[in-house]
Amino acid sequence: MILSGDLKTLEWGCSKCKGDEFADGDDKRKIRNCDSESNPNVAWAWMPELRRCPMSQIDNEAWECIAWWSEYKEFNALPWGGSDLMDQPNFVIDVFVLCSNISKVAEEERAKRWRAQER
Ligand SMILES: [Zn+2]
Repeated sequence: MILSGDLKTLEWGCSKCKGDEFADGDDKRKIRNCDSESNPNVAWAWMPELRRCPMSQIDNEAWECIAWWSEYKEFNALPWGGSDLMDQPNFVIDVFVLCSNISKVAEEERAKRWRAQER
């Protein structure tokens, strides 16, 4: 969702998915399907098979990995400091490769949709 540029869903939050400070979103928790398995009314272009609140499926470690990648893309900042990507621990490189690949797939999907609309 971050990688596909879906910032609207990124703002979602409830006390279950993001912690007690997001309790304001609890009234939408049922519609967004944070607690149950799937809902035919919930779907995203970037992951059509998900059909539930994406926030309920992301753990803290995944958030941290995405934050590393975002900071690198935006500010060239590396999680272990320095400026050489090759000096980072191997798992950081793995995370970046994974994020880049997902981002590429999302980008292609978006381009495909855009071309389909043009026709
Ligand atoms: Zn939620």
